[in-house]
Amino acid sequence: MTESAAPLEPAQPEADRHWLLEAIGLSRRCAPSQTAYSVGAVLVAADGSVLSTGYSRETSPGDHAEEVVLTRLGLPGARVGAAAAAGTAGTAGQLATATLYSSLEPCAVRGSRPVPCADLIVASGIGRVVIAWTEPPVLAPGGGADRLRAAGVEVVEVPELAAAARDVNAHLLGV
Ligand SMILES: [Zn+2]
Repeated sequence: MTESAAPLEPAQPEADRHWLLEAIGLSRRCAPSQTAYSVGAVLVAADGSVLSTGYSRETSPGDHAEEVVLTRLGLPGARVGAAAAAGTAGTAGQLATATLYSSLEPCAVRGSRPVPCADLIVASGIGRVVIAWTEPPVLAPGGGADRLRAAGVEVVEVPELAAAARDVNAHLLGV
């Protein structure tokens, strides 16, 4: 295997595509579900290093990918309200310049846990979110991207990768 020469620092189009494809790859690892989307997410620092990863149902049946990403960093995620773990000093600045890549728009409405992912992302201080696919109003209303933007988070959609993110969930969409 040869080392890729592609730039991996977020905010360059090729790097955004690369990391979004990583997130979509993670979405294929999700346990099958007839009632929830399969989503993958990767959090990448400004220097191109991976800070955290997650995918739906990775650590418990109700997990959203973004919750797993945040919990791995010791931030409130699946365990909302838990104090952030010690030893994350320096993380705040890193998060402000980091990019969260998610195969699906983060949720703005959460059925089974108190805080939707869009609000968790805002609370984390992550400055930029890149998504492949905007949530269709099938399982819950969308609106996560708008909520992030309203809170000052930069949101970038990469529509040419939407089909790949959607294909993993085709059985939920009746298409
Ligand atoms: Zn969510």
